[in-house]
Amino acid sequence: MVDKAVGILGGGQLGRMLAAAASLLNIKIVILDVGEHSPAKQVLAPISTQYSHIDGGFTDPARIRELAAKVDVLTVEIEHVDADALSQADCEIHPSPGTIKLIQDKLAQKQHLQSRGCPVSDFITVDSTVESIHAAAKNLGLPLMLKSRTLAYDGRGNFVLRELSQAQDALATLGNRPLYAEKWVPFTHEIAVMVVRSTSGEVRAYPVVETVHKENICHLVFAPLRTRDATLSRRAQVVAEDAVKTFEGAGVFGVEMFLMDDGGLYINEIAPRPHNSGHYTIEACETSQYENHLRAILSLPLGSTALKVPSCAMLNIIGLSSSMDEINALKNVALTVPGASVHLYGKSECRKGRKMGHITVVAESDAELRTRLRVLLDALPSSPI
Ligand code: ATP
Ligand code: MG
Ligand code: MG
Repeated sequence: MVDKAVGILGGGQLGRMLAAAASLLNIKIVILDVGEHSPAKQVLAPISTQYSHIDGGFTDPARIRELAAKVDVLTVEIEHVDADALSQADCEIHPSPGTIKLIQDKLAQKQHLQSRGCPVSDFITVDSTVESIHAAAKNLGLPLMLKSRTLAYDGRGNFVLRELSQAQDALATLGNRPLYAEKWVPFTHEIAVMVVRSTSGEVRAYPVVETVHKENICHLVFAPLRTRDATLSRRAQVVAEDAVKTFEGAGVFGVEMFLMDDGGLYINEIAPRPHNSGHYTIEACETSQYENHLRAILSLPLGSTALKVPSCAMLNIIGLSSSMDEINALKNVALTVPGASVHLYGKSECRKGRKMGHITVVAESDAELRTRLRVLLDALPSSPI
């Protein structure tokens, strides 16, 4: 017997890992995604018409209604959904469509965080004209980080303006999307904190992790954060928890932050869903971010967010070309490394820069972790992985 069914807008790797966690608790999952064989649908067999997946866009109001009719609770694995259509759905929705709408517009998200006293670096609205970009650069200085307000991921929506003469190029690259600009943040490290929030408003932060990006894409994650600053981890968790408390709705939120030389913290952005920098929680924490997301949205008791291993790293497997050869070679090496768990997402095509899988490595010490990770890093083909 199924207790409650959850509908997920989006059927990518996050949906796939949510589905895997759901199977342990016998929670039924129904996926809405265009792909008939999307990563999440591959790991779930429909048991009846009621639970059969829907082939359609997660921005399509009719398909969202169809999904809502099949389940008790709706959630998202991607924030780029039609939040207005979602708000019309006749079932519980987590996080709230208002939260998703706010977060999916990066400028509105920054304005919201600033108005609630959360630390964000300076930013300014920009029109899609050379003059407006020049004015923003005059105000915030160079380099200037130009960002698309909507539909951004993996840095595809960002343009680093190093000289005023690049303004036209920036407009051509970022297309017709609405823009804003952020002051360049000379951070020393990027860190992230996953936070789970229950329907009654309880928040629990996961351990702080260091994220290492390459070409705007998350490359490596290390947990726990290693630092000489004894207050840093708790400070970062409090910043993340306080930020998440400003949003309505239950579930997991991923809070990306910049760490400054003087120990200061700025929030870069927040995701209203499980997050790439939280994949490590599957092997390394008492309760994974995926299970805790489901527990939160179904009003079940939240699980412990504590680490259960001394040291952990997560390596993203990024496509190099249309070929899976390099990825399979890396997988074969990883299968020989103790403490390494390989996750391949089953995406239909491999493409340069596409997230195809990840490998989590756990160890009894940092030294052991480094030895194990070294084997994987040495097996990587050169950039961009
Ligand atoms: P994703 O959602 O996949 O994390 P995104 O497309 O939303 O990525 P951002 O997180 O905004 O992009 O930025 C990508 C990366 O660019 C950041 O992780 C950071 O390395 C760098 N970056 C972003 N904003 C700034 C800034 N204001 N100053 C300096 N570097 C920045
Ligand atoms: Mg983002
Ligand atoms: Mg980001």
